[in-house]
Amino acid sequence: MSEAVQAFTVGSVECRVLADGVMTYEPGSLYAGLPPEEIGPAVRPLVNDQGLVPVPYHPLLVHAPAGLALIDTGAGLALAEESGEPVGRLPQALAAAGVAVEDIALVLLSHAHPDHIGGLTTVDGAGRRLVFPRARHVICRAEYQYWTSGQIPADYAWMSEVARQHLIPVEQAGLLDLVEGEKEVAPGIGVIPAPGHTPGHMAIWLTSGSQHAIFLADAVLGETNFTHPDWTSAFDTDRAQAARTRRHLLDAAVRDTAIVAGYHLWGPGMAERHAGAYYWNPLR
Ligand SMILES: [Zn+2]
Repeated sequence: MSEAVQAFTVGSVECRVLADGVMTYEPGSLYAGLPPEEIGPAVRPLVNDQGLVPVPYHPLLVHAPAGLALIDTGAGLALAEESGEPVGRLPQALAAAGVAVEDIALVLLSHAHPDHIGGLTTVDGAGRRLVFPRARHVICRAEYQYWTSGQIPADYAWMSEVARQHLIPVEQAGLLDLVEGEKEVAPGIGVIPAPGHTPGHMAIWLTSGSQHAIFLADAVLGETNFTHPDWTSAFDTDRAQAARTRRHLLDAAVRDTAIVAGYHLWGPGMAERHAGAYYWNPLR
């Protein structure tokens, strides 16, 4: 699937999928609570020799009229070292695209899971520093409050620790913008509440001229979620809501013929409605 298209345009706005790397997951965590025989036919073509599903981490770079915007920041080096998996490579992907981290004017954070915010800060001899020191960073207020509240379920405690490590320095630098509701955060770039995966999960809507694109973030965790929109994961904090949000966003994408991108999709594409579910057409 590495031949997926990695660049597309929305009106006059160029967008580029950036490769942070690939992590492998147990099928039962991505499609939780379902018997193996039910998910088998969809999952069997995806798994590697170890029976795990490779899942890409794909931040999106947007050449927006007001400056360069980056949606999500990759896993970062700490998670890469801990997992031993080939992730945390966003800085190299940005450099390969000819972009310096200082050139990023806007960082949009879909939510605060480690694979999306781990690239926000880094630690060197001088301590922890921001990777995107000149950017305004946008996250949903509910998401920030959830992960920094100190009232996280025990299972998520480590993720809360990671969220605090990365988000609080951005907040202390005066660069964190907490947003609520549906909002245009820069010309042609809007955020849409998309709860379920996490309480303050957001999708990003791009508009240029009469054309649209939507970055679904983790409202889908892979192409399988188009044909099986009601399969939810062990990572969704509210699984019923996650499925409702997914259908809502995909219906909007179909209605407006928006290009669809997602953090865990191999590349951009178009969605169609098909027999109570969706059909996925990768861009070619
Ligand atoms: Zn994710």
